Amino acid sequence: MKVSTIYQKSIRSPTGNETFILKPGSNNKKLGFKVNSKRWKGKKLYSLTLVERDTCPTSCHHWNDCYGNNMPFAHRFSIENLTDKLETELASLNDRHPLGIVIRLHVLGDFYSIDYVNFWEDMLFKYPNLCIFGYTGRETDSDIGTGIYLLNNRFNERCVIRFSRSKEYDHDYLYAAEESFEGASFDCPEQTGKVKSCANCGLCWTTKKTVRFLSH
Ligand code: SF4
Repeated sequence: MKVSTIYQKSIRSPTGNETFILKPGSNNKKLGFKVNSKRWKGKKLYSLTLVERDTCPTSCHHWNDCYGNNMPFAHRFSIENLTDKLETELASLNDRHPLGIVIRLHVLGDFYSIDYVNFWEDMLFKYPNLCIFGYTGRETDSDIGTGIYLLNNRFNERCVIRFSRSKEYDHDYLYAAEESFEGASFDCPEQTGKVKSCANCGLCWTTKKTVRFLSH
């Protein structure tokens, strides 16, 4: 069983030489930068990349064939001093973007502790224009999964973290992402070539239907 990323040299310290650890979506053509979807329109999209497997549950169904295995050049941030650095950057980005920002959590990696979930709760409370979206491999009945569910619930206008492999698409605040789901769902339009980027789509944070991704 593999541990951590297979690209150890790509790991960066949050307090290292990188200017910002929150990367503008313009650095990633799948994400895009200026949000054009009806919900969260006008906000700017940023992303955070952590270290795959170091921060993930071992139950993840992509543990061995993680998306990150094909991303040798992505800069992954370790978790030491992570939240301190994020707090500084969020303050700066909040000043820079009056309509607020959307953060994609996480391009690689996952919510790694309850304290980390609570950190995002504090940030959503502190910055009323902040939105977050993404996916987690945490089990819905784990402590961290329950924390994420409650975060979706408490900030249901600004927080959508989808549970991978969950088929419970119609359960309040339990959004899902699934590769082969047959029920009410939609295929990610970026992957089918119908939209250029998440910023131009926004379905992940707009609908409660399950999103289906192509298997990798
Ligand atoms: S469905 Fe839309 S928002 Fe979700 S990942 Fe695909 S392009 Fe991005």
